[in-house]
Order: sequence, then C-alpha cells, then structure tokens
Amino acid sequence: KLYNQVQDLKGSIRVYCRVRPFLSGQSNYLSTVDNIEEGNISIKTPKHGKGCRSFTFNKVFGPSATQAEVFSDMQPLIRSVLDGYNVCIFAYGQTGSGKTYTMSGPKDLTEKNQGVNYRALGDLFLLAEQRRDTFHYEVAVQMIEIYNEQVRDLLVTDGKIRNSSQTGLNVPDANLVPVSLTSDVIDLMNLGQRNRAVGATALNERSSRSHSCLTVHVQGRDLTSGTILRGCMHLVDLAGSERVDKSEATGDRLKEAQHINRSLSALGDVIASLAQKNPHVPYRNSKLTQLLQDSLGGQAKTLMFVHISPESDALGETISTLKFAERVA
Ligand code: ADP
Ligand code: MG
Repeated sequence: KLYNQVQDLKGSIRVYCRVRPFLSGQSNYLSTVDNIEEGNISIKTPKHGKGCRSFTFNKVFGPSATQAEVFSDMQPLIRSVLDGYNVCIFAYGQTGSGKTYTMSGPKDLTEKNQGVNYRALGDLFLLAEQRRDTFHYEVAVQMIEIYNEQVRDLLVTDGKIRNSSQTGLNVPDANLVPVSLTSDVIDLMNLGQRNRAVGATALNERSSRSHSCLTVHVQGRDLTSGTILRGCMHLVDLAGSERVDKSEATGDRLKEAQHINRSLSALGDVIASLAQKNPHVPYRNSKLTQLLQDSLGGQAKTLMFVHISPESDALGETISTLKFAERVA
C-alpha cells in the first residue's frame, strides 16, 4: 500500500490526532469538527470563507474513541522498546484538550480509563513475562518536569537533579527507580504528581505550563547469547500550546509563556527537520530537545499526538494545533 511506503520514506515519525468529547454540561454545544474519516479530519471554519478545512494524519481518533482503542493503536510502537528501540511519544495541544487524559487518565482513575503511561508499563511487564524463557528484562523509570527551561526531578522531594554515577541515561542524573509491577508504577506516578505540586500555587495551573516526562528504560539480556539490548521510551505531556495574549500577560506569566512558545516551536523544528530528512537537526534550541536528542532521529521512533477541543470558541487554537501537526507530519 502506498500509504505505508510514504510512511517509510518519511522515517519513523507518526502523527495522530484526538478530539476530546464535550464535557458534562456541554451537551447542546456544536462541534467545530465536520467529519472524521480514518486519517482525515475536517474542521468547520465559517469565518475563513470556504466553510471547512481538512487535515490528514496517520490516524484520527474521534470523541468516542476509548482509552483501550487509543492504546491498542500505539501498542506495536511501545512494544518495540523491548527490542531495543528508542521511542518518544508527545501529547500536544491547548490546555483542556485532553493531553493528560490520553497520557495518564482522568482524575477519577479506574482500570478502564487509565491512560497510555499505565497501559504501556503494564504491557511491557506482561510481554517481558511472556518472553522470560528467552530474555531477562529489567525496567526502570524516571520522571522529570521542565518548567521555564529548568529541569526538576519529580521522584525526589526537593526536585533537585543529583549527580549520580548512573550511565547511559537520556535524562542524565534524574533518579532512576526500578519497577516490576503496575502497582509500583501507580505509586511512583502519584509521588511524581505530589512532588510536582510542591511550590506551585495550583497543580492544574502549573501542569499546563510545564512539560512532564516519564522515561522508561528497558534492558533485556538474551539468555542464550548473553547479548544485551537497551531501549528507552519517553512519554511526554507537553505544556499547553495556547497563545498567550501579550497585551495581558506580564511578569512571570509572560516569561512562562515565552519559554513555552520557544520550546514547543523548537520541538516542532526538530521533528519537522527529521521528517524532511534535513541533515541539520536543531536539537540545541530547547532543554526538552536536548534531553531527548538520543531518542529523536536515527533509529528512534516518534509519535506526535495532537489534541483538540471541539468547542467553537477553541477554533483558533484548534486550527493552529492542526497546522503544527501538519508541519511535522
Ligand atoms: P489537558 O491535559 O490537555 O489540559 P485534560 O486531559 O486535563 O486536558 O482534559 C480536560 C478535561 O477533559 C478533563 O476533565 C478530562 O478528564 C476531560 N477529558 C479529556 N479527554 C477526554 C476524553 N477523551 N474522554 C472523556 N473526558 C476527557
Ligand atoms: Mg494536562
């Protein structure tokens, strides 16, 4: 199929889109989404003359897509970590569009609505168990936050990055915690959330203005040959992509907004140059792309997962999110 060939030519960058459903109390709202068909989404743009604008990605999930459906599409990518691949998954979109829902889940977390992070680790544990006659796997995680271009370790209470002797990490020196059960992961994610709230006025506010990254390191030893395979996966919940009104934002708020704008466009530039097979990839323009350099490009696989809100007052942000995604696709 031509579709696959095109994807091969472009290397291993995939772009998905997910539309959040209306929330309770919004049942009589009209959606900006006109139609979704496989990789296609068309958006009603009444003010832009023609009426609709259409975008094409590798996959589009409509508002009724379940967490299980979304995960099952990403499963092969995630499983490739056990074969020694490096993987980056980014959740992009304006605040409120569903990034955290996709990556972690809602506040009232149940097994059914768990997001990618939990499912990914659960699946890696399961697969490692299935392969235990041929491979011995060790899994360890790190959790960091990037706020105003500063990195904080979310698995230590004071957030400070310590110099450690651990080597071969893509996020150098952040605390690395071995995990072997899904319950370990749930405990760590809760700890990370609690540490993230330290010093922040409101967690929601803070989480929309910083990038958070769960990194999963996998080391597999082939029991017959003794060969060691190393793979790592970064699951990144990005800061909200909404434009801040420069006339209204001042001081800290303006500084935050500038850092976010710069780092999101630096990420866009990196992925776009990788997609275009550009020999120069500008990794050094942001903390995030510097940290993830070894997992972006080369043999590594990237999934840019953009999120949009269906409300008509989000139209401007929806179009700019889809344009961002179109540029890196
Ligand atoms: P973001 O992280 O992009 O700011 P959230 O993930 O916090 O957005 O989503 C905003 C609200 O919408 C939350 O209450 C969340 O539970 C809800 N939500 C987002 N996506 C979905 C979805 N696919 N299904 C049901 N509720 C969703
Ligand atoms: Mg969020």
